[in-house]
Amino acid sequence: MTSSSQERMTMSFTIALAGNPNCGKTTLFNALTGASQRVGNWPGVTIDKKVGKIKGTDSELVDLPGIYSLSPYSPEEVVSRNFIVEERPDAIINIVDATNLERNLFLTMQLIDMGRPMVVALNMMDQIEAAGDEIDIDGLSKALGVPVVPISASKKRNIDELVSTIQSVAENKTAPAVSKYDDSIEIVVEAAMKELSGKVPEDSLRFYAFKLIEGDSLIDEVAPGSREAISSWIKDMEETFDDSADSIIADSRYERIGQAVSGVCKRAPRSDKGTRSDRIDRIVTNRWLGLPIFAVIIAAVYFIAMYDGKLGTSPGAWATGWLNDYIGDELIPMVEEWCVDAGVSDILTGLLCDGILNGVGAVIGFLPQMIVLFICLVILEEIGYMARVAFVMDRIFRYFNLSGKSFIPLLVGTGCGIPGVMACRTIESEADRRITAMTVTFMPCGAKLPVIAAITAALAGAWWVGVCAYFGGIILVITSGIILKKFKHLAGKPAPFIMELPPYHVPGLFTSIKSVFDRSWAFVKKAGTIILLTMILIWFLSHFTLSFDYIDPDEDMGDSILAAIGGVIAYIFMPLGWGDSWELASASITGLIAKEDLIGTLAIVLGGNPDLDEDAVGELLALILQDSAIVSFFTFNMYCAPCFAAIGAIHRELGTWKHTAIAVAYQCLLAYFVSIIVYVVYGTIIGDTIDWYSYVLAAIDAVILIYLLVAKDPFRQLGKADPEGAEE
Ligand code: GDP
Ligand code: MG
Repeated sequence: MTSSSQERMTMSFTIALAGNPNCGKTTLFNALTGASQRVGNWPGVTIDKKVGKIKGTDSELVDLPGIYSLSPYSPEEVVSRNFIVEERPDAIINIVDATNLERNLFLTMQLIDMGRPMVVALNMMDQIEAAGDEIDIDGLSKALGVPVVPISASKKRNIDELVSTIQSVAENKTAPAVSKYDDSIEIVVEAAMKELSGKVPEDSLRFYAFKLIEGDSLIDEVAPGSREAISSWIKDMEETFDDSADSIIADSRYERIGQAVSGVCKRAPRSDKGTRSDRIDRIVTNRWLGLPIFAVIIAAVYFIAMYDGKLGTSPGAWATGWLNDYIGDELIPMVEEWCVDAGVSDILTGLLCDGILNGVGAVIGFLPQMIVLFICLVILEEIGYMARVAFVMDRIFRYFNLSGKSFIPLLVGTGCGIPGVMACRTIESEADRRITAMTVTFMPCGAKLPVIAAITAALAGAWWVGVCAYFGGIILVITSGIILKKFKHLAGKPAPFIMELPPYHVPGLFTSIKSVFDRSWAFVKKAGTIILLTMILIWFLSHFTLSFDYIDPDEDMGDSILAAIGGVIAYIFMPLGWGDSWELASASITGLIAKEDLIGTLAIVLGGNPDLDEDAVGELLALILQDSAIVSFFTFNMYCAPCFAAIGAIHRELGTWKHTAIAVAYQCLLAYFVSIIVYVVYGTIIGDTIDWYSYVLAAIDAVILIYLLVAKDPFRQLGKADPEGAEE
């Protein structure tokens, strides 16, 4: 490296990283900065802009949300555009997916008009080479008027050249060379530029001129009144082309892209059957096979993580069984013995063993199972299968007047509801965004897995409980879509869902491990903090009476403070077949703090009795509940309000506490209704005894739900779903 280029490397600039969704932006960001953010093989995982320092320089790199164009359709496009327009970074790295060149360059053309120094990072070159295609880099650079650096972000190829190019472009303030369109368009552009001159940054005049012609609302903010000034020019142009102004501009851009690409790309001949990805996609996204295949795959995932029965023991169940046995049979007795030897007081021993170790242990015990499940889901994400599922689900969601875009937050939500709710920001339609934010947490997140595992044990190894929770969540989301769209605030047409399917690829080992680790670690951290604290609190509440007398381990906790509180709440749950159990009522309430608390609480309040087998919370449940009531307990706790942290995320998305309260009330009511119906129906089928009031309530709930589902949607014409749109 020469000394001048070394100097350049250390100069400090602000550089924006912009590109279409799923073109490898996050991967490149990580390669450039050394940070490791979550990479997903589906669009829309990056939401807020992230900042990092480019390695070997003092420049700051800002990772913008993925955007298809600079016209704001979704909130994330607004974030990206505002950053480029208002913050005016010193240079822009426009990352382009070389395997999808035409589509990606549409954004490039607009970025070029902004006049900022810019480099195109042509990513995924490894795939171009693997396919035997060729791209003439110099030719493309000339055609576009900006430097082009071929890279592979995931293989970290050519990253140094990209860094030195962007640094030099930023230093020299090299503006892109503008390529002009048809004369009859350029006349109007010139008029618009003259009108805007002085009102907007001079080097971005051309960009603003196009926005003015396209009728973008951005102009109303920066140069009000200018639209009227050039309206006659625009009208002339529209008459000449017999089309609307924005389509004329879009067409010219695509035409220019077509010219640029056709001259420089040489595609290797493809066999008739298409690439291997295409052939796989023909099966997994097939209209009829897509959903059954998905169902089988999810069933297989839960099977691997949870199954323990006639066919043997799955890896997940085996590891969890071992850890639970260790905690219950060895660790706790060991600590107990140690406490007795050391002369520790009864109360303290109780707190440590029955409270902390029992409660936190019951939660941590499920960690191995959770890791197995996360590994499976992360692999499915990484190879690109989940993007196919989003595509398949779009067909179904659209039928119910929802967008397939809503499915991506649901996928993210299977890790944790909070990023799931945040991922709703990628949905353009306000109504869909709100509905999805209100319903994402129906999906079984990581914290609900201990509950799933306990119920699996309670129902004698019913490994399919997890599968039911997963698809039950999806069904409730769809049901909610149908119901909520009938309310004025939430009515509206589903957002268009365009997504290119990324080619399948072998999961990156590092990203996969990191992703599994992140999710699991979040769980361990929670177990060590919030769960530990609630466990201590629950232990106190359940081991002291209202007059603050200590209740001995052998005595009944029925006199405890918790029993008093739970006893009142228990009435609400009587129709669900939980009897008057204050234990179950208070466990459900602690589930709001963290869903794992539910199991921890049960371990304390049910397992605190030393005569019972303390580590199998599920078996304890089975002792006090009929199977149908176990199912209703499960159903309610899966789908009622999520934990407080997730409610906070919902609040951030919905904007007001009033709407948040409505959302939480809706979730709880729906969960309650569905639980009663499930309880009564399932209980009747398997011959459990059910009280008359449960039947009555179930009937009323069913009538209300059916009415809400079949009632005519007063807004449907306004937002008529377009089933053909799904075929794209
Ligand atoms: P973003 O949505 O633009 O942030 O894209 P990501 O960084 O999440 O990447 C999307 C997918 O493309 C991931 O599965 C990456 O592993 C993959 N990917 C990124 N860069 C490359 C590359 O250069 N070559 C190949 N083959 N895959 C890549
Ligand atoms: Mg990303």
